[in-house]
Amino acid sequence: MSAQILDGKAIAAELRESIRQEVDRQVAAGNSRPGLAVILVGEDPASQVYVRNKKIACEKAGFNDVSEVLPAETTQEEVLALIDKLNADPEVHGIIVQLPVPDHIDPEEIIERIDPCKDVDGFHPYNVGRMATRMPIMAPCTPHGVMTMLSKTGIGLRGLDAVVVGASNIVGVPQLLELLNERATVTICHSATKNLPEKVAQADLVVVGVGIPEMVKGEWIKPGAIVIDVGINRLEDGRLVGDVEFEVAKERASWITPVPGGVGPMTIATLLENTMKAAYKLDCKSK
Ligand code: NDP
Repeated sequence: MSAQILDGKAIAAELRESIRQEVDRQVAAGNSRPGLAVILVGEDPASQVYVRNKKIACEKAGFNDVSEVLPAETTQEEVLALIDKLNADPEVHGIIVQLPVPDHIDPEEIIERIDPCKDVDGFHPYNVGRMATRMPIMAPCTPHGVMTMLSKTGIGLRGLDAVVVGASNIVGVPQLLELLNERATVTICHSATKNLPEKVAQADLVVVGVGIPEMVKGEWIKPGAIVIDVGINRLEDGRLVGDVEFEVAKERASWITPVPGGVGPMTIATLLENTMKAAYKLDCKSK
């Protein structure tokens, strides 16, 4: 039987609409609109597209977009000074730095300079530590968006055997923590993992974020498993494909995300969600 499709585009649209309505309520109550600052250094074409999409999403959700586009030759000190300015600005509730940054910029130092309460990407070590100690405040957007999607299946995660393929700081590791915090039993795999097909074959839930087109074969998937494909790969013929062999996997899985239209749209919607929380929640005091 063919899997049910987890439609990220529809789930993200629903989330964005609920955010817009909450912003309207807050503004009617006299609060300010959430302000999101996206800092882009240089002219990486893919980054320019992401930043433009974030700008459009901000406008549609009723946020103030206070993005800053800086020339490629901007120095580390200049970026740090901008972060200090944005940290001090009460109308700015979320700050993110679009990665990758030019080689002369140290992204770790930049991220650590962001006020953790405004770190809506959830990359600051403070927020990573909060999540690792089961007290999350700001969760990285892509893995948290995956959790929102999983909630739509109606399947409880407690006790599931989950396999995360890919162990990056922005996808795999925070996904591991999110699933662990929901009491799934999680195995994380990376480039040195042995017998990957066997590990995937044991999973009730597979989340893949590797960046290799269709690396996880459909025949590895346990019948009835949930398959979440974070990968986005552009092939030479222009097609976008994920990291999972979708056509075969969908005949075995119970639920599966398509690419495009799966996890991708959830990332920006979750960024808006984090920014809204930063604007209106009071449980994070600036460090
Ligand atoms: P990275 O390159 O940072 O990390 C890739 C991970 O995959 C690493 O942990 C690496 O292992 C692991 N890996 C590489 N080869 C293998 C292999 N043969 N077997 C098992 N694991 C392997 O990538 P990202 O995490 O940034 O992105 C992964 C994918 O997700 C990309 O396609 C990217 O475009 C997509 N993405 C999608 C987003 C969305 O919004 N949908 C957001 C972010 C990313 P090791 O740690 O050992 O190097």
